[in-house]
Amino acid sequence: MVYTEPTKIICVGRNYAQHAKELNNAVPDEPMFFLKPPSSVIHDGQDIVLPRGAGRVDFEAELGVVIADRVRGVSEAGAMEHVLGYLVCNDVTARDLQEKAKRTGYPWSVSKGFDTFFPISPIRMAADAGDPSALDIELRLNGELKQKGNTSGMIFPILRLISAASSFMTLERGDVIATGTPAGISQLHAGDRVEITVESVGSLTNGVVEG
Ligand code: MG
Repeated sequence: MVYTEPTKIICVGRNYAQHAKELNNAVPDEPMFFLKPPSSVIHDGQDIVLPRGAGRVDFEAELGVVIADRVRGVSEAGAMEHVLGYLVCNDVTARDLQEKAKRTGYPWSVSKGFDTFFPISPIRMAADAGDPSALDIELRLNGELKQKGNTSGMIFPILRLISAASSFMTLERGDVIATGTPAGISQLHAGDRVEITVESVGSLTNGVVEG
């Protein structure tokens, strides 16, 4: 079991049409990136901490791509050579703070960047994971199925995301691209247990506690 230690976490917003719709967002013309800090990372089995006073906090089940080596300006055709592997991740989001940021035009950093807001599984090496373009993603909250999607529903596929991200910043070994969440997001509460599985990549289970 090997965990990545990313220098940066590059997230993609609105990469599944049904999820964009459930939050009343338009589908973008090109990938919409934002960053989470490395300090938001926790591992399988660790607790997500709900920040005091932050209001609603949501789960977002996602496939993460782990970068293999330093890369800048790679084409889509060459992108897969720079994939070390994949992981299961949860782009935990303080939704009330994000909505406020959208209204005011402020960045999403606060709503996405709290400590414990990026649970990750160990890395599944690319050779063992196989083709990542049609994998089932499922999230269960306290045993109840809440999200069920497939990576084939991505608006911008992994090749495009790697190429687009590397067009404006150097990607380093271990960096993670979180590829967006399918529909079905909802709120976390203290005492919850969140289980995410991505077919042939692995699973990730986290508890939820009050801050
Ligand atoms: Mg997300």
